Amino acid sequence: MEPLNQNSPITEPEETDFENRVVAPDYSPEDAEVENPLRPRRLADYIGQEKVKANLSVFIEAAKQRKESLDHVLLYGPPGLGKTTLAGIIAYELGVNFRVTSGPAVEKPGDLAAILTNLNPGDVLFIDEVHRLPRSVEEIMYPAMEDFALDIITGKGEMAASYHLPLPKFTLVGATTRAGQLSAPLRDRFGVVLRLELYSPEELARIVTRSAGILGIPIEPDGALEIASRSRGTPRIANRLLKRVRDFAQVVSNGSITREAAKIGLDKLEIDGLGLDANDRRLLTALIRFYNGGPVGLETLAAAIGEEAVTIEDVYEPYLMQIGFLSRTPRGRCATAAAYGHLGLKPPAGPDSGQQSLFR
Ligand code: ADP
Repeated sequence: MEPLNQNSPITEPEETDFENRVVAPDYSPEDAEVENPLRPRRLADYIGQEKVKANLSVFIEAAKQRKESLDHVLLYGPPGLGKTTLAGIIAYELGVNFRVTSGPAVEKPGDLAAILTNLNPGDVLFIDEVHRLPRSVEEIMYPAMEDFALDIITGKGEMAASYHLPLPKFTLVGATTRAGQLSAPLRDRFGVVLRLELYSPEELARIVTRSAGILGIPIEPDGALEIASRSRGTPRIANRLLKRVRDFAQVVSNGSITREAAKIGLDKLEIDGLGLDANDRRLLTALIRFYNGGPVGLETLAAAIGEEAVTIEDVYEPYLMQIGFLSRTPRGRCATAAAYGHLGLKPPAGPDSGQQSLFR
């Protein structure tokens, strides 16, 4: 950023982009709350992620005791694991407003300025997909995060004017599915960096049981576990499957989700015993049939199954790697012997199918 010209005249903000309010109505916390009654509001209701919760509760308590804003928090991990939910919980526990936007929605520095100048002291500003903030916006974010001030330059050449606006102390909560894509200067300005992990089936069963309670769906522990173990470690999927299975339960078991009803429903939805759906199987089958189990580059694999490379990386791979079906090697993706077994195919001889296939 260019140095500030302290002698510049201060003009009315109307001439800049300050007036553009970018916090779209559909992003407001109230809407989110109505849309999603399943979102826990308090830290105590947030199931799993014990390490993250333990850390956060200390930071929240300390900030409250000191009557200061919480340090900026970066949450990262695959989609649907509860980053937005956790950001809302942070605001709730701190007793402050929760403002929501996303990286691609903040197009210009003026958009960010409009959001920041409307915050109250202590507020939580949540920016989803924070790695997608445009560079020009990112640059004014640095002093905003560090010094709680906006340094804005308008106009060009002799008409250039610069402003230094103090901001209320706020907490930025950034969420990203890919911490690696965050620029180093932005990443370094988050005091708290928390990584969310895929959930265990037992944790997901607790989430499913809680959601069923809120939605008034009778469910047996076995039924909850059946749904949980096919939800790819992801609460969003678990809640979605719960709603789908409810319909099958009405026909099969008078509305109560038993293990049998869950099994029938999930089988009909073509979600197999490990939670793999048709897309996962298509990816693994392509990797095995077209590329002898790998190694194959991400882009090539993406083209073969007609998916975006980012979707494969963010959505499919984390779970396939967790269950040991896929490995990422420097030369590309490889299917493991377990993946062959699951698809009923015979793995090539040798311990490392992917490497072996290179020499065939
Ligand atoms: P992300 O922002 O990581 O994509 P969300 O916060 O939108 O994920 O979570 C998706 C849904 O999963 C939420 O609507 C919420 O109902 C549920 N959920 C996520 N994490 C939890 C949790 N730890 N306990 C209970 N429900 C959760």
